[in-house]
Order: sequence, then structure tokens, then C-alpha cells
Amino acid sequence: MSGGTIFDKIIAKEIPADIVYEDELSLAFKDINPQAPVHVLIIPKKHIATINDIEESDRELIGHLYVVAARLAQQYGFAKDGYRVVMNCNEDGGQSVYHIHLHLLAGVTMGWPPFANNKPKQVG
Ligand code: AMP
Repeated sequence: MSGGTIFDKIIAKEIPADIVYEDELSLAFKDINPQAPVHVLIIPKKHIATINDIEESDRELIGHLYVVAARLAQQYGFAKDGYRVVMNCNEDGGQSVYHIHLHLLAGVTMGWPPFANNKPKQVG
């Protein structure tokens, strides 16, 4: 199942990426434009465009992405110090590649909230 995004091309090995982990369900590679000393993207091999497209049958797959994140945190040695795992959704969430991915960010103490300087809009 392919969605034709740049990440689908990375999965198909049609374009290169700095891959740090791979199994039958997922792939993890370094972000090309890192926002932290460690910035790895963890993606499912199944094409799912956004969080809104996650189905009940994807439960295990989504959980697996977090298992991979935790394993990489152990492997890189920042599990105890801490890290951030983020998945953006659509325009307001800052999504630019429409194939879901976890951002695994580490190596710096991160502030919260990340949107402190932005004007809120009315929702809900
Ligand atoms: P998002 O904005 O949440 O959709 O995140 C997309 C991320 O993909 C950004 O952090 C980009 O820097 C990253 N990215 C885009 N193209 C590539 C690529 N070819 N290899 C690695 N990371 C990429």
C-alpha cells in the first residue's frame, strides 16, 4: 500500500535515508532537518496519511511505533534523561509529510508549551 509520499519512497529504498532501525512493520531514520541533537522519525511501513486515518485495526501498529521509540531511547542512552515523542496532524499540527510518523527528539532540555508565542484560535 503506497501513498506516494517521500516516506513511501524511503520505505521502498527508492531514495536514501540515514536508517537507524528497521523491522517488518516500521522504519526509523534521521530527520533531514533536525530540531534537536537527536531527531529520528519512526514510521509505519503501512501508508496511513494522518492520525485521522488511523483505524481500530491499526492499534498494534501504532503501539509498536512507541515500542521502537523506547528501544531507540535505550540504545542511544537518553531514556533516563528524557525525550519527546510527537506526531503532528494536518496543517495546524504542523504536518508536512502525509504519512504518519513519530518524531523522537532528545539531547536537549525541551520547553513546554511549544506554541507559547502563537495566537490561539477558538476550537471545541
Ligand atoms: P512533519 O512536519 O511532522 O510532517 O514532519 C516531517 C519531517 O520530515 C520534517 O521534520 C522534515 O525535516 C522531515 N523530512 C522530510 N523529508 C525528509 C527526508 N527525505 N529524509 C528525512 N527526513 C525528512
